[in-house]
Amino acid sequence: MEILITNDDGIYAEGIGALATAMKKVGNVTVVAPDTQRSAVGHAITITDPLRVTTAKRNGQFFGYAASGTPADCVKLGIKALMKKRPDLVVSGVNLGGNQAYNILYSGTVSGATEGALLGIPSIAVSLDTFKNPDFGPAAAFAARLAGTLKKRKLPAGTLLNVNVPNLPTSRLKGVRVTNQSRTCFNDWFDKRTDPHGNTYYWMTGDYKPKDPDAASDLNALNAGYVSVTPIQFDLTDYKFITELQNWELKL
Ligand code: MN
Repeated sequence: MEILITNDDGIYAEGIGALATAMKKVGNVTVVAPDTQRSAVGHAITITDPLRVTTAKRNGQFFGYAASGTPADCVKLGIKALMKKRPDLVVSGVNLGGNQAYNILYSGTVSGATEGALLGIPSIAVSLDTFKNPDFGPAAAFAARLAGTLKKRKLPAGTLLNVNVPNLPTSRLKGVRVTNQSRTCFNDWFDKRTDPHGNTYYWMTGDYKPKDPDAASDLNALNAGYVSVTPIQFDLTDYKFITELQNWELKL
């Protein structure tokens, strides 16, 4: 099994190191990842600048390709320029921080996997639901087991898996739940500050402590100690609304 790995935290992040180690037990791993931190770039691609690619080492050994682009750029580059064989699987992560609810839309981690799915390859995004004291091992191990499952099971065209893992040792994880995306939102605001030259600037901050009435959501699974696996898709059409919108009889 040929596996392409990317992330949005950058090629030297701890999470992608753990993921590559775990995935090497499942197949041949090629890492193509951003050369710097690229979190929350969503599905951006680079079109006005060239993409530079260098080789990255970890512990003195070749680890992968570092690209001056986004996660979506890295997956495109990996498949269309760097890998000799087309991958059988794209895995993005392990991200530092959960990608549940509407965070999925901003997530570079999820977009790495979305790009794989757009190119017709089974794809998984994996995130660890913490920003403090992360232990990426259990999430990486689960991703490897899921990759094993994907040798036998088939995802529908246009569907990818968004996996979130609580920051707990494997022995304390309650299990795995198939979930839907929570409809809760990050409560964000802007801190207004003054720079040393007396100019105003803004820095986004916020908190994320929503109550979600939806028991089947990714958020509630994570809060209850379960790994959440949400099948997601990138066709954004609201099919249920098409007929009603047609009834609006829009005219030029
Ligand atoms: Mn990130």
